Order: sequence, then C-alpha cells, then structure tokens
Amino acid sequence: MIVYAVPLHNRFRGITVREGVLLRGAAGWGEFCPFADYSDEESAPWLAAAVEASEHGWPEPVRDRVAVNTTVPVVSPERAHELVAASGCHTAKVKVADPGSSLVDDCERVAAVRSALGDGGAIRVDANMAWDVDTAVRAIGELDRAAGGLEYVEQPCPSLAELASVRRRVDVRIAADESIRRADDPLKVAVAGAADIAVIKVAPLGGVRRALAVAEACGLPCVVSSAVETSVGLAAGLALAGALPSLEFACGLGTMSLLTTDVTSSSLSPVDGHLPVPRTAPEPDLAAAVTADERTRLAWEDRLARVRRVCEQGAFARPEAQR
Ligand SMILES: [Mg+2]
Repeated sequence: MIVYAVPLHNRFRGITVREGVLLRGAAGWGEFCPFADYSDEESAPWLAAAVEASEHGWPEPVRDRVAVNTTVPVVSPERAHELVAASGCHTAKVKVADPGSSLVDDCERVAAVRSALGDGGAIRVDANMAWDVDTAVRAIGELDRAAGGLEYVEQPCPSLAELASVRRRVDVRIAADESIRRADDPLKVAVAGAADIAVIKVAPLGGVRRALAVAEACGLPCVVSSAVETSVGLAAGLALAGALPSLEFACGLGTMSLLTTDVTSSSLSPVDGHLPVPRTAPEPDLAAAVTADERTRLAWEDRLARVRRVCEQGAFARPEAQR
C-alpha cells in the first residue's frame, strides 16, 4: 500500500492537499481517501469501494468513453475563464455559495465561464447545501440569468423537502448529491419529486456495483462524480459511468485538473471533453514523488485499520455480498 499526499492547485472543500491510500490486491489497485472530517463509520463504504477495485474488479462497461465536466473552484472570473478555456470540456461545474464568495461574485464567475464555453456549452452549479429555500430561489434566478441558462443546480439546500420546494419554484433542474450519498440508506432515498437528476459517487456509495444499484433504485438520470481522487480512484468512477445503462449528462470526473500531480503516467485527464473507460485502475508509478511523510503515513495506516474493523463488524457489507 502507498500513502500519498498530493497538493491541490486551489483550495477545494477547505483543503489544499489531498491525502489517501492506494491499496493493491488480486484485481489491481484501489483508492481509499475519505475526507479528514469523516468518521470511521462514514469511511466504511470508501474502503468497500477500494476493496472492490483492488480485489474484485468492475462490471463490464457498455460504453468506452464518457463526456465530463471541468470543475471551477471559487476563483476570480479571470481565473475561471482560463481554467475552462484550458480544459477542452464543453460542460463546466461551478462551485457557488461558498462562505468566501458573495452571490455577485458567483454571478461574475458564472458569466466568465459562459464566455469561455460559448453558447453551445453547458453550465451547472453546486451549492453544497448552503441555501435555505427562499435564498435558493433568488440565487438560482440570478445565476441562471448570469449563465445565460443553467443546465442544473446541485444540492441547493440540505433536505429533500427543501429541494422539492425549490424545484416547484424554479425552472432550472435540481440535482441531489449529499441527499443521496449521506443518506442512512442510499438505496431507499425517495429522491423522485425532490430532484430531476441524481449525482452518484463510487466511494461514498461503497463501490461500482452498489452505486449501480442506487442508480437503479432512484430511477433518475445520473451524473457520476468523483471525490477528487487520483487517477486510481477516478478509474472506478469511469467504470461506473461506463456501466450505467443510460448516461444523458456529462460526468463530474474531470477533476485531475484540481490536483498538481498524479500517481501514474497514464493520468485520466480529459481530451476534448472526454475520458476513456478503463478496464482496470492505472498502475501507480509516480507515487514515490507524492509519498506522504511518516506522520501522515502512520495516521492513515491507523485510520485504515480502524475502518477495516468497522467493515468486519458488518457495519458495511463487503462488496462480494452486494452482488
Ligand atoms: Mg456536489
């Protein structure tokens, strides 16, 4: 196993360095990288996903490439324009409603993204549960105008009831993200009526197979997104996107641009707005350059052992039990 620490280009989700563990097993490599504030219980599905990748591999894909969005963090309009223009992607996801950015800032950033994408591109925004219903309705109206039309708004408010209220009051589609992946039972979330689109992520849902089951259970068009992993973890997201029966929207898997470096030379960076669907995770070969210091390594080894115990106690079913 390899413990890595990769710096980010911009602060994202409050962090400047992405850390995690790469695990090797009979089927190849898997990535275990729950965020620092996640409990051992909440980290258990992340380990199940890493074990699925490294020990069992993934279901056969039905497509060999996937359209992806580029992700625009909370940066200046000029920087947002540069990032989108350099990405080659035709869809951009813009982070909004950050504590460090006002609605005026968000509108300016979204307008800059529109000018970089042109009329043919699609813009989606992610509020990460920041708004109440009235604030969401007002902000979505202004952002939709600034964007010259939004494709969808991701998780404007915390609860499903609030998403449903917002959805009744705006014309823009609503996507559910945290409502699904942080649910007690993602297989049983009654998301229909509260959202038009489901955002699904391999690691928090416990692997590609379990995420496919969640997609089927929710009955909505899905967008597969990453948790800002290295290319080892991104490959699992692409395996999921590749195996979904239908895929209407670009996926949120173009996140390698957020990291300053990767653990492999076969890095999964979009070309012309698309990524390939790999059969196996890339082999780490640059990992020595991003190997974490001893203190970080010991902390992750300890965390991995604790989360393994949670999994062994049956708090989260092993992937072979989910088929
Ligand atoms: Mg989100």
